[in-house]
Amino acid sequence: MDLKDAAWTRIDELAEELWELALRIHANPELGFQEHKAVAWLTEALRKGGFEIQVPYGGLETAFRAEHPARKEGPTIAILAEYDALPELGHACGHNLIATIAVGAALGLAAVKDRLPGRLVVIGTPAEEGGAGKVLLIEAGAFRDVDVAMMVHPASHTLVGRGSLAITEVEIEFQGRASHASSEPEKGINALDAVIQTFVALNALRQHIKDGARIHGIITDGGVKPNIVPEHAAALFYVRAPENDYRDELVEKLRRCAEGAALATGAKLTFRKAGHEYKAMNPNRHLGEAFKRNIEALGYPVEEHHGGMGSTDMGDVSWEVPAIHPYIKITDREIPAHSREFAEAAASELGRAGMLAAAKAVAGTCIDVWTDPELYRKIREEFERKTGR
Ligand SMILES: [Zn+2]
Repeated sequence: MDLKDAAWTRIDELAEELWELALRIHANPELGFQEHKAVAWLTEALRKGGFEIQVPYGGLETAFRAEHPARKEGPTIAILAEYDALPELGHACGHNLIATIAVGAALGLAAVKDRLPGRLVVIGTPAEEGGAGKVLLIEAGAFRDVDVAMMVHPASHTLVGRGSLAITEVEIEFQGRASHASSEPEKGINALDAVIQTFVALNALRQHIKDGARIHGIITDGGVKPNIVPEHAAALFYVRAPENDYRDELVEKLRRCAEGAALATGAKLTFRKAGHEYKAMNPNRHLGEAFKRNIEALGYPVEEHHGGMGSTDMGDVSWEVPAIHPYIKITDREIPAHSREFAEAAASELGRAGMLAAAKAVAGTCIDVWTDPELYRKIREEFERKTGR
């Protein structure tokens, strides 16, 4: 039997087991860095499939690495699994499916790995939703021996090559001076006004920023009582752009807005980056084309991407190694991610079908990379040209 047929047949044999695992993770949502059950179940399935397991991995309790024992000359391919859920909404981003797509692909490939070059690794990456698990793993050296990385995210459309936005979280704080807001307002310095001025200046800036960039914020502290001039006020912003450099430029423009507000009000500004930054996704076109051929052969035509984008720590991985982050359709209509409806879709029949097709497409793409040296050469060449690495 041909390599792909054999891997895909194996995935079909495992379909029930994989789906049961996806539903179990779905029914037990765990937040970033607390995904202990998911990691135990996923590594158990991989161990049973003959993989060697390291957990914890890269200094993270809920990260893991599973490697197939058939190590040969050739590229090391990492299939990434995410498995964190969202507060209150559970698996409303469908990461339960990302995890079982990775495990399904790996177990399918295990059936033929003896006949393939290279090394097969599954990396379990915690806390994609704001915790930057992959950034921490990169810093820990987890991708140093990886040559190609891929994962598949569920969505309302099957997409290849859709990017993601670079993101920086910015916290601004203003320190003013309290005083009675009615009897002695002239003695106060209003920190809340400084936050409001920042938003007003930012809204004026918005007309002049490039398409696709996003700056959105909330007021996290706006004072304590109307009869006290707010002495402290704070806001949190997400600054996003399709390019890493432009994101950095916008962070500086936001700083100017806040500095102007500080000057106008007399409040003292503290401006700092909060949390982690994610880079914009740098999707590898040649790798994406290989995935496209596989997923289309499985009956999932790739659609044209319209509309907005979020941010993901896979962006950072894509600047370390050639990588793709395609999307697999699991709905019959437009359903936004991070909604209750999407959480339902992640446990639906279409979710099951999408999971199996994506697992097969990932396995097929790995086989293409391992068996077509010219494809691998193009993937590397594109990556080196874009990143200068
Ligand atoms: Zn997600």
